Amino acid sequence: MRLLKQLIILAALCGLTLSVAADEGLRPVDQPIQLQVVDRDGQTRTGRVTGYNPREIELVDEQGQPHRLAWAGFQPANVDQLYRAVMDQDDPQHWLELGRVLSGITGGDTLSDHALKEAVTLDATLTGQADLIRRQRGRADAPRNLAAGSQNAWTWEAIDAADPADPVARDKAFAAHVAQALGLTFNVVETDYFLFYTNLSKREAYEWQRLLDLMYDRVSYLLGIPKGVNVFKGKALVFMFAEKGQFAAFERRFYEHEVTFEAALCHQHDTGEVRIALYKLEDDKYLKQVMIHEAAHGVVHRFHSPQRVVVWLNEGIAEWTASRVLNYTQPYKWKKKVSADHIRRQGRLDADFFQEGGFSAERYGSSLAMVEILLRRGRPKFVQFIREIKDGKPWQESLRDKYDLSPDDLTRLYGQTIGMPNLKR
Ligand SMILES: [Zn+2]
Repeated sequence: MRLLKQLIILAALCGLTLSVAADEGLRPVDQPIQLQVVDRDGQTRTGRVTGYNPREIELVDEQGQPHRLAWAGFQPANVDQLYRAVMDQDDPQHWLELGRVLSGITGGDTLSDHALKEAVTLDATLTGQADLIRRQRGRADAPRNLAAGSQNAWTWEAIDAADPADPVARDKAFAAHVAQALGLTFNVVETDYFLFYTNLSKREAYEWQRLLDLMYDRVSYLLGIPKGVNVFKGKALVFMFAEKGQFAAFERRFYEHEVTFEAALCHQHDTGEVRIALYKLEDDKYLKQVMIHEAAHGVVHRFHSPQRVVVWLNEGIAEWTASRVLNYTQPYKWKKKVSADHIRRQGRLDADFFQEGGFSAERYGSSLAMVEILLRRGRPKFVQFIREIKDGKPWQESLRDKYDLSPDDLTRLYGQTIGMPNLKR
């Protein structure tokens, strides 16, 4: 439902044209919306709004020239008015998105609250996501392009950092190569952190991209990464194939990997790239879980240093993120039950649970529960715990320093949650 057939907005801009680019990553606007903007030099630009995404809008001027304008350059009230005109007001996700956009603009908090309230009124399951957006406001806004030195606090330089090529351009060239090699045509959605390629429809691409952005917000909050900081080298690439055969062909051709049971994979390169591949499963809910899980691994890979996080903890973080982003209770309750049943059958935690190596399906619920136990003692402690591991400290030592726990203590604490208070491994 659009209330306005034609809207004229006069908006003052702090910074004007970002780029003249193809319509990549923009949602089309089908209603005619006229926009007048006044730039810093007092110049008025008039045009038609033809597309938008959570970062920017496209304005086609009277000469037919397209211009990209960042929402961040507008006053909050103008953003609110224009966004409502272009979005689908019956879609709670769009209200949530507006809340997030306003939340990132100085002085936009009150209007953001209105939008978030609307989102939750339409869909009560969005409460958690709306809360997260509100909570993140307190965090200092970090500039997007940090100086090389300060960036190291959050992410790491790849070993080929001396290569002058723009990493995003390289990501795009790689995707073009994939499309050509597999004989596919991709729709692409680009966000601040992701390049999402799919041979599904563009509409579906937007749905999935939205989840990825939520995932990024959530896991960066968990790891204490300030708002706006991109930990990826370039952007994380996500390929969602319509068919399993296409996914398998990609894995075989580019990673020399034969797919069997896998539905999604996150390739974490030593040179810093993160490339996620998956295919459209019948079970949409499950697909969302696996995509967010894999994407969370990608962020952990890029966080602070290339040091690997021990598998039980890495899996726990990925499960925690997916469960929080999706607000699905049932699948995670079930995973915990599967783990608890497995432990009850054998009377102990797997002896090699905390070691590196394969991680069987029955272990995911335990790893999630253990991460929850640690997080109950406060997020700042958890951030320090992970940072120390990323600095190269053995995880057992960091667990001792930060939580005053041994792996056996953690096992017992976990045992208490499944009715086995003396649980051993
Ligand atoms: Zn995993």
